[in-house]
Amino acid sequence: DPQLNPAYVFDSFIEGDCNRVARRAGKTVAEKPGASSFNPLVIYGGVGLGKTHLGQSIGNEVKRLHPHKIVLYVSSEKFINQFQDHSRNNAINDFIHFYQLIDVLIIDDVQFFAKAEKSQDALFAIFNHLHQSGKQLVLTSDKPPKDLDGMQERLLSRFRWGLSADLQVPDYETRIEILERKMKNDGLELPKDVVKYVAYNISNNVRELEGAMISLLAQSSLNKREIDLDLAKKVLRNFIRTSSKEITIDAIQKMVCEFFAVPYDKLLQKTRKREIVQARQITMYLAKAFTKNSLKTIGEHFGGRDHTTVIHSCQTVKDLMDTDSLFRENVVELTQKVQLAAM
Ligand code: ADP
Ligand code: MG
Repeated sequence: DPQLNPAYVFDSFIEGDCNRVARRAGKTVAEKPGASSFNPLVIYGGVGLGKTHLGQSIGNEVKRLHPHKIVLYVSSEKFINQFQDHSRNNAINDFIHFYQLIDVLIIDDVQFFAKAEKSQDALFAIFNHLHQSGKQLVLTSDKPPKDLDGMQERLLSRFRWGLSADLQVPDYETRIEILERKMKNDGLELPKDVVKYVAYNISNNVRELEGAMISLLAQSSLNKREIDLDLAKKVLRNFIRTSSKEITIDAIQKMVCEFFAVPYDKLLQKTRKREIVQARQITMYLAKAFTKNSLKTIGEHFGGRDHTTVIHSCQTVKDLMDTDSLFRENVVELTQKVQLAAM
């Protein structure tokens, strides 16, 4: 099937918190097409987060498990173009009839229907017929159905009949796993510190993550040079966003409170409990490292403490990091979280 890329299978689609619901629903749909309540299954998410990969995985898996079923994966653009051709040739009925014979219809990027009113009519007729016959529909979209402007309300209400599941940006650990899987599949190996560097710094979407890895490999073979962290830093300069957003003291306070399960008000009060004192000191340390606020302003954010308290806190954190490895791990992990949030 020329429409389905054999590399896009569930096995190569790494699961993480970012995509668990969508991936599992996709598997269910592939195992029991038309027979679950996930009909239609709508998978939505931003660019490069895996909509096409997941949609195609469903198609490939249906073909593997149910070889007699008719599966069609089609991009919305192609659907719309085909429809317009048939419309010009007065063959709309042929077009609709063709789609009504399909058991599992996967339509990618349905947001493109927004400007195609007539194509929406055809999609509506096809959707109704397939759904009534217990056939499976899978749709992907760059927005949740409720935000698809320019789409007929009767279509949107049908999109909501089944399950809408989103794809989000994978977290750091999942990005590492994705890179490791890609390397394994392509028979490549990058040093661990380079993998971490890439995963850490390329955090917008998976396509960019792959792009970064490919440029790295290209540079390395071009310059006949081993990939090390130095080379990675040079190559990835283009990828890493230069305009990082300014993170606020409030945001850091929230992250630390969440991390240590410390109530926010305790952080500001004069509590002397050790855990809380440490959480407060770490927060001040991070606020000094990651914001442009003065020591005075930072102190004011902690229930009106003065700048010498902030200086003392930062020094204490540095000292403890040298002597207490658990403490250091916590600070390192929090530092990573704050850096990620600031990108
Ligand atoms: P979209 O259609 O949402 O723009 P794609 O499905 O084209 O995104 O994904 C972009 C790239 O990222 C593809 O090469 C895909 O294989 C890869 N990708 C996305 N998510 C994952 C994942 N969870 N595991 C492995 N690869 C992924
Ligand atoms: Mg896509």
